[in-house]
Amino acid sequence: MPELPEVETSRRGIEPWLAGQTILRAEVRNARLRWPVDQEIIALRDQRVLSVQRRAKYLLLELEKGWIIIHLGMSGRLRVLPQPQPPEKHDHVDLVISNGCIIRYTDPRRFGAWLWSDDLRTSRVLAHLGPEPLSDTFDGRWLYQKSRNKRTSIKPWLMDNTLVVGVGNIYASESLFVAGILPGRAAGSLSEEEAGLLAESIKAVLLRSIEQGGTTLRDFLQSDGKPGYFVQELQVYGRGGEACRVCGTPIQLAKHGQRSTFFCPACQH
Ligand SMILES: [Zn+2]
Repeated sequence: MPELPEVETSRRGIEPWLAGQTILRAEVRNARLRWPVDQEIIALRDQRVLSVQRRAKYLLLELEKGWIIIHLGMSGRLRVLPQPQPPEKHDHVDLVISNGCIIRYTDPRRFGAWLWSDDLRTSRVLAHLGPEPLSDTFDGRWLYQKSRNKRTSIKPWLMDNTLVVGVGNIYASESLFVAGILPGRAAGSLSEEEAGLLAESIKAVLLRSIEQGGTTLRDFLQSDGKPGYFVQELQVYGRGGEACRVCGTPIQLAKHGQRSTFFCPACQH
């Protein structure tokens, strides 16, 4: 599933081809995604792209008359085609751009979304989202204050979008390893110092992954078709039973809220 670094990598991949250009039209071959593709997108004609932004795991195309909100779901992917190519089975949406290229959306499992918004402030999907992890609003103080009296395990607590957006399963496990904190502890047990360390670790792990072009997992490819490389740097995620890269202790696997959590019982406390 694409997480924040993969979505940011996709944003950076398509931005140079879209910003300042005009979308001539959208070709929607299959509107049955997680929700039906909005009519405004199907009927779109000749609108200039003012900017290409991201909020949480949503890509936001700012057009003259509104916004296209794209979510990649479980298996969605955007590619830039410098010239037209015949669509294949899972290529559900094309944006035909004035510079001659096509932005193609492929999504075998169809859990993604293409929504229209006249005004982002009233968008249902964006309301109630917590701060961006790479913004100044998100820091140790924020985590510490929010964690007071919380009995939930730290790992699922971190993955709650109202606390902070974009910390999915992989990056929650990796950040807790870097911060040396056991994922099964109660969130309320975090000290001020640990909260600071954890916020810094989350930022560092996400930034490093964005630099590497996102993590290669199943269906994710960068918008130019190259795989991301972060998977080679994963410390604990997907490494159950393998030796910890720091101390050699076998990495353990646990379940928190039905999701797999990987950790080192010696490095994390
Ligand atoms: Zn270790």
